[in-house]
Amino acid sequence: MFNKTIFRKQQLRFMLLNLLAFTVIFAIFSFIIFGQVQRTLYSHADEELQLFKERLTDDLNGLEGDEIRPMPGKGNQDPSPMDKKRDNPNPRIVVIQWDRTGNILNKGEIGSLFYENYLTDYQLDKTKIDEIKMMAIDDMYHFRYLLFEDANEQDDIAYIQLLINVDAEQTIISNFMKLVTICSVIFIILSISASFLLSRKMMKPIISSWNKQAEFVENASHELRTPLTIIQNKLELLLRTPQERIADKFENIALSLSETRRLSKLTSDLLTLARADSAETELNIKPVEFDAFVQKVCAPYQEIAESQQKHFWLNLKCPISINVDETRLHQLFVILLDNALKYTGENDSIGVKTYVEDQRVVIEMSDTGIGIKEENIQHIFERFYREDRARSRETGGVGLGLSIAQWIVEKHRGSIKVMKHQQKGTTFIIKLPK
Ligand code: ADP
Repeated sequence: MFNKTIFRKQQLRFMLLNLLAFTVIFAIFSFIIFGQVQRTLYSHADEELQLFKERLTDDLNGLEGDEIRPMPGKGNQDPSPMDKKRDNPNPRIVVIQWDRTGNILNKGEIGSLFYENYLTDYQLDKTKIDEIKMMAIDDMYHFRYLLFEDANEQDDIAYIQLLINVDAEQTIISNFMKLVTICSVIFIILSISASFLLSRKMMKPIISSWNKQAEFVENASHELRTPLTIIQNKLELLLRTPQERIADKFENIALSLSETRRLSKLTSDLLTLARADSAETELNIKPVEFDAFVQKVCAPYQEIAESQQKHFWLNLKCPISINVDETRLHQLFVILLDNALKYTGENDSIGVKTYVEDQRVVIEMSDTGIGIKEENIQHIFERFYREDRARSRETGGVGLGLSIAQWIVEKHRGSIKVMKHQQKGTTFIIKLPK
């Protein structure tokens, strides 16, 4: 219940973070596109204003407005469309002449209809000289304008203002704005759903590893408690009969000792896995003569197997040196050989085969023992998994050996699996990079 609340809160946090990231990306994207569209649409009108201003300035410098001036280096060639445009008055542009006190001098020229309807309340802003600005008249008509000082000092004209109507551009921009707003709403709805799905996906591995961790702690406590209880009981029994001789209580003492060994092995296994989880353990990689190493590790097991009337064979065909952590590889062999001895009976055989295949060193560890049920193969590398709990307790296993074996192999960038559809016994196939 408590966990569920934490998970839900975390999922909500992930969702909000995702949503924020999506929204920021979309906002930046829309802002750039919107700015670009607006700039492109206005750039044509601005260019016309600049051309018109140049033309007026040229006129004031003594050139006649309607005369087509030859471009340098063009001789008597036909004027280009750009030249024509430059030299013909632009009907889109309205020219307003202002005196120094802010009165319009050419009311007649700009047309009384336009002036009386729209410009009567307009105040000249003299601070925006030589800059192209935007203005809206009656919130209906939109103009780009360019205000500049008149160079001719012989007349009353102090400023000239060029206005160009950009209603068409403004309509496109406001339509585009509407489109962006609609897209934003759709996008927000979509990103809420996407954020929800993503946050659920992000929570899955967290929940699974949380559950695994909780299960691990529970199993570990259980496994630690059992031998501790046995030792405690046996010691209490011994304390109650202090007059008895050690030889008479031999069984109790032996059992306590074996449980102590079990505890010690269990704690060291737990420590190995805890360090593996926190990625604390680094391998000590060195070149190792592989077959010689296998022979050395297997020697004591060969003796034990023979003492238990089991046949032990070696088929080593990998006389090369490979880079491995010798101690960890030794631990891997011990886990697998221990299991092979544990899960085989009299007259069974245990064998180790090595060879090179596809640039990889392959180790096949097989036995003709009790084998693993096909449906349980997928679980045997899980922590604390034991096929037969009662039997494993007898043999001293707690189900951590193969988890450690898998970690060692994977840390060496190799793979470990169990051969399927085997007639009898078990074969582990380990592949390590050469
Ligand atoms: P344990 O300490 O119980 O042996 P492991 O992790 O080493 O734990 O093995 C997990 C389980 O896999 C064992 O309980 C056993 O059921 C099965 N197993 C492992 N090796 C063999 C084998 N050679 N033959 C049959 N079963 C095996």
